[in-house]
Amino acid sequence: MAQLTALISVSDKTGIVEFAQALHALNVRLLSTGGTAKLLADAGLPVTEVAQHTGFPEMLDGRVKTLHPKIHGGLLARRDLPEHVAALQQHGIDTIDILAVNLYPFESTVAKPGCTLEDAIENIDIGGPAMVRSAAKNWKDVTVLTDASQYAQVLEELKAHGRTSDKTRFAASVAAFNRIAQYDAAISNYLSARLDDGSLTEYPAQMNSSFVKVQDLRYGENSHQTAALYRDLYPAPGSLVTGKQLQGKELSYNNIADADAAWECVKSFDTPACVIVKHANPCGVAVAATPADAYAKAFKTDPTSAFGGIIAFNREVDRAAAELVSKQFVEVLMAPSFSAEAREIFKGKVNVRLLEIALPPGGARPWDQGRNAQDVKRVGSGLLVQTADNHFLGKADLKVVTTLQPTAQQLDDLMFAWTVAQYVKSNAIVFCGNGMTLGVGAGQMSRIDSARIASIKAENAGLALAGSAVASDAFFPFRDGLDVLADAGASCVIQPGGSMRDDEVIAAANERGIAMVFTGVRHFRH
Ligand code: 5GP
Repeated sequence: MAQLTALISVSDKTGIVEFAQALHALNVRLLSTGGTAKLLADAGLPVTEVAQHTGFPEMLDGRVKTLHPKIHGGLLARRDLPEHVAALQQHGIDTIDILAVNLYPFESTVAKPGCTLEDAIENIDIGGPAMVRSAAKNWKDVTVLTDASQYAQVLEELKAHGRTSDKTRFAASVAAFNRIAQYDAAISNYLSARLDDGSLTEYPAQMNSSFVKVQDLRYGENSHQTAALYRDLYPAPGSLVTGKQLQGKELSYNNIADADAAWECVKSFDTPACVIVKHANPCGVAVAATPADAYAKAFKTDPTSAFGGIIAFNREVDRAAAELVSKQFVEVLMAPSFSAEAREIFKGKVNVRLLEIALPPGGARPWDQGRNAQDVKRVGSGLLVQTADNHFLGKADLKVVTTLQPTAQQLDDLMFAWTVAQYVKSNAIVFCGNGMTLGVGAGQMSRIDSARIASIKAENAGLALAGSAVASDAFFPFRDGLDVLADAGASCVIQPGGSMRDDEVIAAANERGIAMVFTGVRHFRH
């Protein structure tokens, strides 16, 4: 059998001397780069330096060592094609059958505190990945090893059969391409995080497929869980991760999750709005002429739950709004900007986290269709992926299904209620009136329970529901849910429709003197 050749070029030299000794014992010829060659020679092994093999010195501080046709020709040539074999002969190129390479330690270099951009750049391996790709592409003829854990199995097969199996070479090729993908992602992530001037957001949305670590978090939802925040490589303008923290304690995992819910909701209003979130659900939402008025109304919905809440505005927080908000215990306060007077008011409250986030350009909605448009949820060792719930309703989309027509004021209230319901966990029932939430029923397993809870909460807050407008995020399966709304004082209802018993529910609305509109879409949120 013809003598096999192995090229060995490793940064992590774990187990490499033993591996080379075993190869030598099997009569495999050894080729190697500078540092590795020296180590093998010192161990008494006959090894040919790549520089000697190619007739070309390693140069440019090692940037060019193995980038030579004698190396890549030897790795890439197909042994089953006479033209390839003839080309090798013509140019005096020997085949390389085994490639053991591990790469410059880019990941561990950038993980070191104080790593400079120059250090990082010098640790980007060029020739190593090139060889690994050549060998992995030509897996039918070449065995490529990118990790010390693979050495033993290859030696075993060589000892037993004088060659490796197709299965082993293919698996090794896949592992090699995976390693290169991981290595390139580490480089891309590190460099993208250094380019923090927002210019990346100008790239087209289809490039939005990888993530950059923003920071480790102290812990996850609970203190025994570890956590970190990542952002899209190209974040959508106006999204939470584009925000800047102006003051306050470090944001926690739960802060960020709740802040996102509040921000997504508040930016969907065109008029000055305020959203207060607790445990991922809005517990008060209102629109008004000024941010201060919007806050005062939103707070009234559920003052008990608002304690320690996350508050978002879609207008600058001015002195009046800041004075009102500073009276309550607030975890995070978000707005497109804070006036100098507002900043002054919060200066003394060092724990309050102020987050400044620019609104998406081009107005409220739809703000990011086609961008950041994927919604992802982890399930046992898998991912559920869907497009984001970016459906925005216009009044023209509504279908009145009752004898009673809603008035212009009722239509405004219904549209407001529908917008809020989109951001409430299912089953969602939202009572509203005069541009504010009056009672929010969230996250119940039955719609009727959400309806009851919403009305109980309004009662607890001392808010009358007579004449209120109600949104239901999905249809009523029976008339009982609608009866709960009517008993509480609702005068109009917005819901998707589409139930088997729509007729029963419409008849109930007519009987109870309620104007009802169908949207034709639902907004489940889990
Ligand atoms: P050695 O310690 O043997 O001098 O270098 C081994 C390292 O060099 C390996 O991590 C290998 O991936 C890398 N390497 C091999 N050829 C080249 C090349 O042409 N350019 C660069 N930048 N690195 C290479």
